[in-house]
Amino acid sequence: MAALLEARGACAGYAEIQVLAQVDVAIPAGSITAIVGSNGAGKSTLMRALAGLLRLSAGAIRFDGADITHHPAHVRVDDGIALVPEGRLVFPELTVADTLRIGAFLPRARRGWQDRAESMYRLFPRLRARRDTNAGRLSGGEQQMLALARGLMSMPRVLLLDEPSLGLAPAMADEVFGVLRDIRDQGVTIGIVEQNVYAALAIADQAYVMEDGRVVSHGPSKQLIDDPAIRTAYLGL
Ligand code: ATP
Repeated sequence: MAALLEARGACAGYAEIQVLAQVDVAIPAGSITAIVGSNGAGKSTLMRALAGLLRLSAGAIRFDGADITHHPAHVRVDDGIALVPEGRLVFPELTVADTLRIGAFLPRARRGWQDRAESMYRLFPRLRARRDTNAGRLSGGEQQMLALARGLMSMPRVLLLDEPSLGLAPAMADEVFGVLRDIRDQGVTIGIVEQNVYAALAIADQAYVMEDGRVVSHGPSKQLIDDPAIRTAYLGL
């Protein structure tokens, strides 16, 4: 499958600290691709670099065959790359319905936003029940769903998710993971960083394992789940 979004030889960091060292990652169109690894491995940094929130010091980012290394973040949103950052970050005073509406702020996403909001309520029935509630009053899981739905309202071609299960009760996390598959099946490509390695490998088509700013392993998720080194290091098996 052709890569929709990829990093090639990507190097990036913060001030003098280099975090990403020659990272090659390819997210194929129509896939769920997971990025896993221990704390501080550079997973969030990679997500920021893909979304254009962090500049590369070397290497390239390609999207749908084009070099977008120098596209700033807002242009990448326009290109069709949406990042749902860690921590959910919804505006607490906005209702669920208004949050979805502002998710469709891009000119190309405005048309048909009401139908799209309706399809978000089908995907996340909990949000329909709470459409007039302020986002700040939702539970953590509901806020995560709202952050995902807001990202989808921009009609992205690729959705990048940073730790969507962080802080969620297991049942709620399962619900979120289940929806990710539905989103992929509707044609949205997904890149996901997860601390819950088992859950991420269970839903992903393929995965990259990062350590210390480098990719140390890569393959179909099923293969990684069976890899003894991965099982010991990340799955506690
Ligand atoms: P975690 O699961 O803990 O978020 P991660 O794999 O996502 O881990 P990153 O958040 O990408 O890792 O962090 C990689 C390294 O970059 C870490 O050493 C971290 O301390 C450092 N780092 C992250 N953000 C910043 C920042 N804004 N300024 C300076 N250093 C940072």
